[in-house]
Amino acid sequence: MADGAVTVPDRLYDAYLFDQDGTIYLGDDLLPGAKVLVEELRARGKVVRFLSNNPTKDPQQYADKLARLGIPTPTEEIVNTTVTMTRWLLDNAPDAVVYPISEAPLKRSFEAAGIKMSEDPAEIDIVVASYDRGFRYEKLQIAFDAIWFHKRARLVATNPDRFCPFPGGRGEPDCAAITAAIEACTDTTCEANLGKPNPAMLHAALAGVDIELRNCVMVGDRLSTDIRMGLETGMAAALVLTGETTAEDLATIAPENTPDIVVDRIDRLLPPDVWQELGWSESERG
Ligand SMILES: [Mg+2]
Repeated sequence: MADGAVTVPDRLYDAYLFDQDGTIYLGDDLLPGAKVLVEELRARGKVVRFLSNNPTKDPQQYADKLARLGIPTPTEEIVNTTVTMTRWLLDNAPDAVVYPISEAPLKRSFEAAGIKMSEDPAEIDIVVASYDRGFRYEKLQIAFDAIWFHKRARLVATNPDRFCPFPGGRGEPDCAAITAAIEACTDTTCEANLGKPNPAMLHAALAGVDIELRNCVMVGDRLSTDIRMGLETGMAAALVLTGETTAEDLATIAPENTPDIVVDRIDRLLPPDVWQELGWSESERG
């Protein structure tokens, strides 16, 4: 990696918002330094939250995963797009009949919130596109009929991600592919996208917390979602080079898209003086 890409922070922040996949863990493996970093931040009274654009799990499933990896976390400190999409519907279209193209967690969240769901195109008001590994032609037909034939449904989406990164450089098509399929056949445009960089995620994560955004840092591995949300909301934006983005990618991006902080491992989010105070050394930490 080009050393020139790394910009370590010179301060601690009051709140740390972490993306999960590619940032805290990759697949089922914790990334180096993640556990000690979170423990140290919590010991110092910092607000720690975990975010994800992925709607195929609910916050409890993320809590179970984090606990399994040694970072036990209350579900209230985890926000993903099942939470932001549900909240958006309750705030913007509480009486709408919704057709989620999704896996079970999003439907469970809608059900728990009392949101009415239907597969009948003649009564669907909102089609919700999401990351759905059970996507098939019949679902596209229902969305098409509700939006194009009955001319009644609007289209919204849980998240803008093109693919979900997997270990070894592989990945899986994500919500953007399903949104694009519906847009292509209906000639409509998705009206709202409830994942990062939409600040809905940030507002849900920091609800009830009184901290100025300039004292918060958004930490993630993806420029178009994590870093964009940080930069657009006035938080510090910290990129970790353990997921999607490489040091080479950074060399070609516009100055206005450049993260404030770039680290090659996540525990470097603690500034050098804190490393010194903790007695951590480069050689010990590998
Ligand atoms: Mg990520």
